[in-house]
Amino acid sequence: MLELRPNCEWCDKDLPPDADDARICTYECTYCAKCVADVLKDVCPTCGGNFVPRPIRPKTAYHDTPKLGLGHQPVATKRHYSRWTTEQVERMAALLKDVAAKDR
Ligand SMILES: [Zn+2]
Ligand SMILES: [Zn+2]
Repeated sequence: MLELRPNCEWCDKDLPPDADDARICTYECTYCAKCVADVLKDVCPTCGGNFVPRPIRPKTAYHDTPKLGLGHQPVATKRHYSRWTTEQVERMAALLKDVAAKDR
């Protein structure tokens, strides 16, 4: 199950579960769309992969089994913060921003 992290790991913007500007990498590193575009250049500074829009988890459970939706699998509360410096982020972006994600 996808961990719905509550904030952008770079600028700390709140990213509630229905945010349409939340972006994730394959390891669930979570950033806002503005930081992905302007700072990260669509390169995850941790794994080097690309980002996609985070799917929005429905509020409502539509079945008795399985019990799904935000009421049953709520958002994560632990805020994550990037371990990387601006210089490290820029180095990864320069290395990989012009390489297609499938070729990284
Ligand atoms: Zn951000
Ligand atoms: Zn990543």
